[in-house]
Amino acid sequence: MSAQVLSALTIAGSDSGGGAGIQADLKTFAAHRVHGLSALAALTAQHTRGVTAVHVPPVDFLRAQIDACFDDFEIQAVKLGMLANASVIDCVADALEHYRPPFIVLDPVMVATSGAKLLADDALDALRQRLLPMATLITPNIPEAELLLGHRIADAAAAERACAELLDLGATAVLLKGGHLFEGQRVIDRFDDGVAQHEYIHTRLPIDAHGTGCTLASAIAAQLCNGLSLANACEAAIDYVARALQGGYRPGRGEVLVLDHF
Ligand code: PLP
Repeated sequence: MSAQVLSALTIAGSDSGGGAGIQADLKTFAAHRVHGLSALAALTAQHTRGVTAVHVPPVDFLRAQIDACFDDFEIQAVKLGMLANASVIDCVADALEHYRPPFIVLDPVMVATSGAKLLADDALDALRQRLLPMATLITPNIPEAELLLGHRIADAAAAERACAELLDLGATAVLLKGGHLFEGQRVIDRFDDGVAQHEYIHTRLPIDAHGTGCTLASAIAAQLCNGLSLANACEAAIDYVARALQGGYRPGRGEVLVLDHF
């Protein structure tokens, strides 16, 4: 057995259907040989056709989960996913200000592909003011970036400008996921840490999957635990999601694929 086991903590929502959220994060951590810890910020009753109910546990209980994890484990990276509302965001921000983990990967989850709302409208300011400034990396898709910035991102030039604008909100680096932009058959994810800019280009796969954003952010967190640089962790995680998509499967009656993590 190795002397030191590095752990990654996901603070996010659970998906009873096993495709996204905490369940995707823990599978991704395991696939990267990183010990996975979890603090449930929200619970969704969910299947392959959508979200049927959401429960947000009391913030004291969320804080107790986070404290229990930091009390005992060597936490190298924290992944943040569905945080539901402003009081949950405040609770998470307070805890992270206290524990200051080396890496924080923030997936600013707002709306599921199915259309279900996963973040209250009045929580955007809390996300901007409390969590973006402490994030090592944020991984918005185009609609999330548009909401964070308050304007449309219509083309490649606007996406490049948006990366710089998102950095101005305080994160150390941004990976702007390009899947919602039409750039021919290619999907371009743009990385910017204020010094270097990278474009990760891959062919658009004709696959309608569930949990890709959660998987990507948790794969980045796992790769940071494994010692990769931020840009290399992003590149490796994008490749990982592409492979997981190709091996995806349909476990329920809905149209949505769940990713294969192994
Ligand atoms: N459910 C939970 C708990 C999530 O955290 C997320 C995304 O982050 C989703 C559902 C939505 O996943 P998707 O948009 O891939 O369907």
